[in-house]
Amino acid sequence: MKKGRLIVISGPSGVGKGTVVKAVLASNPKTWLSVSATTRPMRPGETDGVQYRFISRERFEQMIDAGQFLEYACYVDNYYGSPLEPIERKLADGFDVLLEIEVQGGLQIMEKRPDAISIFLIAPSFAELAARLRGRGDTDGAVIPKRLETARREYGVAPQYDYIVVNDRLEDAVSDVLAILRSESLRAGNQLEKLKEADSDALSPDE
Ligand code: 5GP
Repeated sequence: MKKGRLIVISGPSGVGKGTVVKAVLASNPKTWLSVSATTRPMRPGETDGVQYRFISRERFEQMIDAGQFLEYACYVDNYYGSPLEPIERKLADGFDVLLEIEVQGGLQIMEKRPDAISIFLIAPSFAELAARLRGRGDTDGAVIPKRLETARREYGVAPQYDYIVVNDRLEDAVSDVLAILRSESLRAGNQLEKLKEADSDALSPDE
């Protein structure tokens, strides 16, 4: 079976990554979102094992030492990481695996997995990003200036991503991401692989 693709989606806090990712997942049943582990406290409405696996700092560090993360980073004083084993399993099962991660992790993936497709989401303006963060209601007010400062640094890394998508209207951002994935699947190398598979199916006896 053809292996799935690894897709990194990054962008500053408040840009709407979660909403775009949900829409991409809904549009393609062969897409799976990696559930990260984190040491940050659970927010109201979150459930352990759904948005994140909420674990202690000690447990996170044990997992780092055991090589159990494909990538991890420290972001606003907490660890976040993508557990390796479920990602490998889903890729082997032919699923496209989405990683919704910040830029330090995104850069690690580009280095380790040069075949990964990387997409950076930006807001139409920095003022709009600040307004979205303030209006979100699930982020402690005291943390907002720190998140905005981090966002400024993150924008500096955007040129290293394969694609930049502006999330102004959600429908447009989603259709841009889907267009990227579609055109990636039409790359000559991918098409030739598919043709080879079809030919070997035709050549091998059915029963
Ligand atoms: P939040 O605390 O708002 O859920 O997430 C903070 C940031 O951490 C977001 O930019 C989110 O994309 C990122 N993040 C979530 N999971 C991971 C992960 O496994 N690895 C990395 N590097 N970043 C992550």
